[in-house]
Amino acid sequence: MSPSYLLRCTACGAGYQDDGVRLHCDGRHARALLRTEYAQRTLAVDETAGGILRYEAWLPHRNEVEPSGSTAIYRSDALGDFLDLQNLWIAFNGYWPVRGATLPSATFKDIEADAIAGRFPRDGRVLVVASAGNTAAALAQACSRYDVPAVVVVPEQALERLRLTAPLAPNVKIVAIGDDSTYDDAIAFAERVAQLDGFVFEGGTFNVARRDGIGTTLLAFSEAAGELPDYYVQAIGSGAGAIAAHEAALRLIEDGRYGARLPRLLLVQNAPSAPVYEAWRAKSESLVEEAADELTLRRRARGLAATVLGTRVPPYGIAGGIRSILTESGGDVVVATNEQACDAMALFAELEGVDIEPAAGVALAGLRNAVFAGIVPQEAVVVLHVTGGGRKIRNGAFSVTPLPALTVPLAAVREPRLAELVAASFNSKEATL
Ligand SMILES: [Zn+2]
Repeated sequence: MSPSYLLRCTACGAGYQDDGVRLHCDGRHARALLRTEYAQRTLAVDETAGGILRYEAWLPHRNEVEPSGSTAIYRSDALGDFLDLQNLWIAFNGYWPVRGATLPSATFKDIEADAIAGRFPRDGRVLVVASAGNTAAALAQACSRYDVPAVVVVPEQALERLRLTAPLAPNVKIVAIGDDSTYDDAIAFAERVAQLDGFVFEGGTFNVARRDGIGTTLLAFSEAAGELPDYYVQAIGSGAGAIAAHEAALRLIEDGRYGARLPRLLLVQNAPSAPVYEAWRAKSESLVEEAADELTLRRRARGLAATVLGTRVPPYGIAGGIRSILTESGGDVVVATNEQACDAMALFAELEGVDIEPAAGVALAGLRNAVFAGIVPQEAVVVLHVTGGGRKIRNGAFSVTPLPALTVPLAAVREPRLAELVAASFNSKEATL
């Protein structure tokens, strides 16, 4: 049964019945996030379900989905001892079956993909999504499974990291942006395709399904621990995961059984590409203009240990955005260098026994920096969100690498003809490019 909910604008308070694709408020104000407002006001756990479906009463779903896997929640002794934290918990979204983490892309993106596929109408319209890599595999796989036509746009260099559990359906196409492209270039092309008739932009952070999906990670922690944490540690690029955790915490506080205090968000960016950190330190209401030239900025984004965190335009100053959740939660932003992130990945593998993705290394390195700086007290209940890990175990099991249906040269990203070419391939019976 579909949960009953409204979409509520965080700027003007307007409410909307969800049509499955709405991303923005119609009000005449600056861009703002919409939030789901569920009729169900307390956490209802479906004990018989697995993965995100345990919390389906708080998912904006209109279609049945089967969760691709589960989050693992456990209390860490080894890493906790090393960091001198008495209550360190790991929320592990990856592939680590012995701990109970079974996400096939070895990242949290499977969770987002299931949530997005559960909301998107299955009426023949084509879902268009931009990805820095992880979302691509997860969403392409989910759309193939549910027979949702989709265009997934990625920077070309992300292709080599994509691994699928099964071949894609013919109406799910991967488009690569060539040359020196970044996540922001993939977004630019995806937005072009999505302007065409019958195509719908997935929306990234603005998609409530994406956020409520990943918000289940905090719900899973609170179900396991019986409380909200004092700190929630998360590496951020677009900040969707952090906003999602905050929104899930607001719901749990309204429930009343998990405590009354919002978890402080400790957000970590991969230096030197750290627009949120710069803006937060400067106490700025919006992102601070970057001093470097375009080429330097591109090189910087591509040189990150965690390239998936490389977006330069996260939703920072908007209503419901990163600045507002940091302020509401009494949170903070720290940075981790590439070297610190790599050290943290090795540390996690040594102490916890599994490989983690660079973005998760950034999160751990940021936590380590914050502990050493005295920002996080020893006795605090801390959740470290490991957003990806276990790829080495997973790679042994799955090995289909997708080929792009089309590679668009970076210089042609804004050319209408190429977007139309992608669109036309969905109208032909052969569905080929
Ligand atoms: Zn509004």
